[in-house]
Amino acid sequence: MTSIFSKIIKREIPADIVYEDDLCLAFRDIHPQAPTHILVVPKKEIPRLSDAAEADQALLGHLLLATNKIARQLGVDDAFRVVISNGANAGQTVFHLHLHLLGGRRFREGGLARSL
Ligand code: AMP
Repeated sequence: MTSIFSKIIKREIPADIVYEDDLCLAFRDIHPQAPTHILVVPKKEIPRLSDAAEADQALLGHLLLATNKIARQLGVDDAFRVVISNGANAGQTVFHLHLHLLGGRRFREGGLARSL
């Protein structure tokens, strides 16, 4: 099934894109939870992190390094948080793997529950 994020990747629906390379696309979340809230999305459709396979090892590493680059590009590399929700009970609403990059505000210590 084609996810809404695949439609963004194919430019079928608009998004505020901040980064793109061969393997991933990053754009601003429409309901930002921080001044900087970016979704980093692999072009390959993997529904959940738990659906990733050994063959995706390099891609998963790539997503983290791309997140670093984007944080630097947007000036939040000193302090940011990366969140992946896996499965509906963990709050995942779009079933196309994505990393939330959150920055530009202070996060409560140990406040993961309030981060998203
Ligand atoms: P999750 O709840 O972890 O699956 O995250 C999905 C995120 O996608 C939510 O934070 C939504 O606000 C965001 N989102 C959904 N549709 C769009 C869209 N068309 N453009 C940008 N962000 C979106």
